[in-house]
Amino acid sequence: MTDSPLHLVIVNTPIGALGSGEGGGVELTLRSLVQGLVRRGHRLTVVAAKGSTLPADCSGVELLEVEGVNQPSWQHAADHAPVEIPRNGLLPGLWEIALEAGQTADAVINGGYDWLPLWLTQRVSARLFHLVSMGDVASVMRDVIEAVAAWDSRRLAFHTHRQAADFRLPGPANVVGNGFDLSNYTFQRPTNGPLGWAGRIAPEKGLEDAAAAAAALGEQLLVWGFREDEAYARLVESLVPAGTIDWRGFRSTKELQQELGCCRALINTPKWNEAYGNVVVEALACGVPVVAYDRGGPGELISAGRTGWLVPPDDVFALTEALRRVSSIERSLCRSWAEEHASCEVFSQRVESWVRTGLMADVSINPRS
Ligand code: UDP
Repeated sequence: MTDSPLHLVIVNTPIGALGSGEGGGVELTLRSLVQGLVRRGHRLTVVAAKGSTLPADCSGVELLEVEGVNQPSWQHAADHAPVEIPRNGLLPGLWEIALEAGQTADAVINGGYDWLPLWLTQRVSARLFHLVSMGDVASVMRDVIEAVAAWDSRRLAFHTHRQAADFRLPGPANVVGNGFDLSNYTFQRPTNGPLGWAGRIAPEKGLEDAAAAAAALGEQLLVWGFREDEAYARLVESLVPAGTIDWRGFRSTKELQQELGCCRALINTPKWNEAYGNVVVEALACGVPVVAYDRGGPGELISAGRTGWLVPPDDVFALTEALRRVSSIERSLCRSWAEEHASCEVFSQRVESWVRTGLMADVSINPRS
């Protein structure tokens, strides 16, 4: 494996500008990937919607901005949903520029979860790599991910083994985890703070179970996140005694980590196969133990008894009992776990090694005409 710097094109999700927050967890992932790869000495070109911003210490990175209409997210699609691309879509706009830039680059890394770039992979000469950001949400996406995997599984990477297990892969999955600029998260020692929950306010995130556990303990639950589904937010509020939920709104990372860091525990209650669980690691980085359902990424990230507790999915009684035991967790172990496994340095190193392995294989592969 050579150590010479690579020229990499990084393509943002076609939902919002990089730095706007619209792209959810993918944005945080790509920003820390860019930071980590720059620190490793690579040359980067970022392709993203107009209005995008790069992290502060990335002045040498080329930013190619594209105008277009946001792509609808696959997050709430039905299993049989078709691929839809709006008129003047950002998705084809991003990929027109990315494929051109990819002609002279070593590789193109896709951060979005979209059918078009996956389908293009075996049909173009640019070397496309996909960091798959969700599990199985719709059959047309599952099919195209599995088709790329059957052609060359080295072109795909996943955040966790649990996420990758949603797909039929010809061999072991490339699992790269995720990474965070840990200098943005301050370790806080307090142990008697409130309970917290963070994430998009949407049914797949299972806020109702966290609220029920807080209510069972007669405590308040601090909730941070974008109210994506208003009706669902109101429903959750109606299910627990008035005042149980303290809606804190969507906060910047700086504010979020400050408030979250005071918490005694973060509760994480996904109802879907969460690909990773950024908020779990963000809490750990502040020294906050996490009590979560043993489902999806969080079930793989939390080390029971060391950085939090895992309970059977959808078991609110077990969740409540585990919250009573959270004081036995040593908060400094939570921070150490994040430093060891989820810094932008270790993440970018894993991504680099995935891409280099895929590029070595590339000499034997010819694109289909
Ligand atoms: N988040 C934030 N401010 C908030 C609540 C959440 O910036 O007030 C961010 C959080 O840092 C995380 C993202 O929203 O990076 C949610 O990502 P996650 O992987 O937990 O879920 P997703 O929304 O991508 O399914």
